[in-house]
Amino acid sequence: MGVAGGGGVRLRASSLKKQRQRTMNNIKITLLCGFITVLVLRGTAGINLLVNSGDSDGAAADAKVVEDIERILAEIRSDSEPDDVVVLVGGDGSSSSSSPNATAGLGNFSSSATLIKVKEYSLGPKVSDWDDQRREWLSRNPEFPSRDARGNPRILVVTGSPPGPCDNPAGDHYLLKAIKNKIDYCRLHGIDIVHNMAHLDPELTGYWSKIPLVRRLMLAHPEVEWVWWVDSDAIFTDMAFELPLSRYEGCNLVVHGYPDLLEKRSWISLNAGIFLLRNCQWSLDLLDAWVPMGPRGPSRVEAGKLLTASLTGRPPFDADDQSALIHLLLIEKDKWMDKVHIEREFYLHGFWTGLVDKYEQMMEEHHPGLGDDRWPFITHFVGCKTCGRYEDYPLDRCLRGMERAFNFADNQVLRLYGFQHRSLVSAKVRRVTDPRANPLEAKEAALKMDAKFDRV
Ligand code: UDP
Ligand code: MN
Repeated sequence: MGVAGGGGVRLRASSLKKQRQRTMNNIKITLLCGFITVLVLRGTAGINLLVNSGDSDGAAADAKVVEDIERILAEIRSDSEPDDVVVLVGGDGSSSSSSPNATAGLGNFSSSATLIKVKEYSLGPKVSDWDDQRREWLSRNPEFPSRDARGNPRILVVTGSPPGPCDNPAGDHYLLKAIKNKIDYCRLHGIDIVHNMAHLDPELTGYWSKIPLVRRLMLAHPEVEWVWWVDSDAIFTDMAFELPLSRYEGCNLVVHGYPDLLEKRSWISLNAGIFLLRNCQWSLDLLDAWVPMGPRGPSRVEAGKLLTASLTGRPPFDADDQSALIHLLLIEKDKWMDKVHIEREFYLHGFWTGLVDKYEQMMEEHHPGLGDDRWPFITHFVGCKTCGRYEDYPLDRCLRGMERAFNFADNQVLRLYGFQHRSLVSAKVRRVTDPRANPLEAKEAALKMDAKFDRV
């Protein structure tokens, strides 16, 4: 809320002087772009200005060019409005960003560099002492313990879907199945869950809507230790698996990914559709640093170009939250990475295409509670967009996969009550236990959530 309002107020209050300054900045950026164009042209002609070619005149010219670029960048930074962020990306993928308060060198600046400028975006009034505030609140409110009945840190699962109906009724049906699945998982594990359908910030729509939401929930629920974002198109397919929270003790962000792909700057090295964020100042700062590429309009469009230039394998499209996170963690590695846990031991996010046809085989060979290839914790229907219009995969392939994932998971729930789906493609169920059995004895058996499925 304060987000869009705050931006608007700042805009109206901007003085003529500021506007003049902005014009000056634009001129300087144009000049810098001119410089870069010259560098590119000369680079193409085979003359590398940034490398000392041996002769002293050349070296002096090189130094002058670098000095000029540095001076212009420094000027842009120094008289930028406090809410401007200058992001520089090299043609080799290297990049640096700077707010007027931060210093950033030219790094591995290369002759094909591009420069973009996005508005620093405020998610609301800056919170800077959240750890102290939260600690104090917890000590004053013992009726809101930060640990659950089993002594585990309190987790809040958060998901969301658009405010209006889907473009086709099947989309809504699968949203309902997906939230039923999450409610089941959370009930079985004593976890609270939020499903949000409001756009808390009209600038941050679609996959960006999770950023203001996660922040609001952290501030509104100081008793929650971990906010766990789970996309609506993700299905819990291992109802027995529990997060290894003790492994995350020194970390504030847990996300599924591949460190080797991150090294290679791949845009799919991490999946931002499911992540855990600790309720602390570090996380609020991360959200602030993550959001500037999100606002609709020029920021998202320009940042999209930068992300495509900077990350490997990324098709050209507007900035998305996942690429923005990867980019941020790469350019400010030292600042963030020691508190980031990249999960790859189990499927915190499991890409659906390789999993949905193997569920029968998994039931034959394995049992719930493993979370990995053998019995994936979460099956995520990335690219399906069953609620919208522009899916990357055929709609019926997505819906078939979702139906199978849902039934595979639902079998693990229905088993508690003595039922099972007739098959993974059938919504119909049948009884699998003797209804005359002693209910409390049956409960003993049902509690073994990680038991193998009987062949039926
Ligand atoms: N989302 C939301 N409100 C919206 C649109 C999307 O909360 O208005 C959430 C929803 O949970 C969705 C997620 O944003 O799952 C990300 O989008 P999607 O899963 O379609 O992206 P993909 O995983 O395919 O990249
Ligand atoms: Mn998704």
